[in-house]
Amino acid sequence: MPPLSRRLFIGKMGLGACGSLFTGINIVDANVSKKSPQLIPTKKLNIALCGLGNYAGMLAEGLASSQYCRLAGIVTGHPEKARQWQKDYSIETNSIYNYENFDSIQHNPSIDLVYVVLPNGMHKEFVIRAAKAGKHVITEKPMATSVKDCLEMIEACNKYNVQLAVGYRLHFEPYHLEIKRLGQEKVFGQVRFIEGSLGYKTYDTNLPPDSKFNRFAPSEWRLCKSKSGGGPLMDLGIYCIQSSRYVLGEEPISVTAQFGTINNSVRFAEVEESISWQLRFPSGAIANGTTSYGFNIDRFFASADDGFFELSPGLSYGPFQGKTSKGDLVFPTINQQATQLDEIGKLILQNKPLPKHITGEEGIKDIRIIEAIYKSASTGKAIQIFQ
Ligand code: NAD
Repeated sequence: MPPLSRRLFIGKMGLGACGSLFTGINIVDANVSKKSPQLIPTKKLNIALCGLGNYAGMLAEGLASSQYCRLAGIVTGHPEKARQWQKDYSIETNSIYNYENFDSIQHNPSIDLVYVVLPNGMHKEFVIRAAKAGKHVITEKPMATSVKDCLEMIEACNKYNVQLAVGYRLHFEPYHLEIKRLGQEKVFGQVRFIEGSLGYKTYDTNLPPDSKFNRFAPSEWRLCKSKSGGGPLMDLGIYCIQSSRYVLGEEPISVTAQFGTINNSVRFAEVEESISWQLRFPSGAIANGTTSYGFNIDRFFASADDGFFELSPGLSYGPFQGKTSKGDLVFPTINQQATQLDEIGKLILQNKPLPKHITGEEGIKDIRIIEAIYKSASTGKAIQIFQ
């Protein structure tokens, strides 16, 4: 077995020493920022958030501490929300749009990129409209609700010569960079088995409907198939699929899957409450995944020929905890959204192409796998994927 790397070893020594080992510049570690001089951008990338729900709020927080990006515009269907956001974030009146007049953003030189944070079923429309307006685009995950829609989005961004990224927040996260390295560099030998699971308990029928433990109102778009494309698999399971793919550095060749029990048939009339799957990879590795809106789970585990590595919590907003058969993994806790935005913003500002693993080409692979998982769960058959 190759020796554990310096990065893993230093990880055990504490936070202060390990920042300089990352290419990321946004690690939240006062010692690091004092020691390593950083490239200060002369211009920030001006971003308009399209859809001002919960996650847009987290992105706005990330933008507030971003070095390369700033919140410059908003797109919302609610005038009162527009007024509040304008006040909170000092947004210029001529950079505030609604869903009807959004296309006129093409005449606004103060916006460089549109970040689509709408329900999944609306990603395609707004990515294509943003591309037509000549703006770069980030769309939230899942990229869209079908492979066909993903293809149209990629085609539009190519046609209008703009960059398209998918808002995966873990590609720049230190623990995830490390498990990717441990897997792909076979630090513990060939990975044979992965388990990646992410789920949240979203309801408790013993509590009043307005209890904070009943996260979804009956009108929640996540429970409506035409708006979400599916249940927790689209929303949360995608991170389990992603991590198994980048830790192995391979694409799955086949999948089997099973829907879980529906414990609340009123809420889950259109989308699954839970689902489990098994991906088979060319190396022979198997990745089991489970996702649910009915119970809490948040972990990643990889068993390799000469050891194991795991994160638990490991796929949510963190903070993460990591362990290997050789000791703990310790990395700084970062603002996932600020880091993701900065890494994307930095490249776009320099007119450099985004790495393929965060573009639409990556997004479409996950949707292809998700479609195969649903097909297998519905038919009871193994489905071939990337052959
Ligand atoms: P949300 O329900 O909090 O916000 C959705 C927003 O869309 C609201 O502002 C709503 O007013 C607006 N909207 C416009 N038209 C709508 C319609 N027809 N129906 C419903 N809402 C409509 O949802 P959210 O949690 O902010 O999720 C938005 C997107 O962000 C989703 O694609 C989701 O998958 C993604 N997301 C990603 C992460 C991540 O980890 N990267 C985390 C949470 C959400």
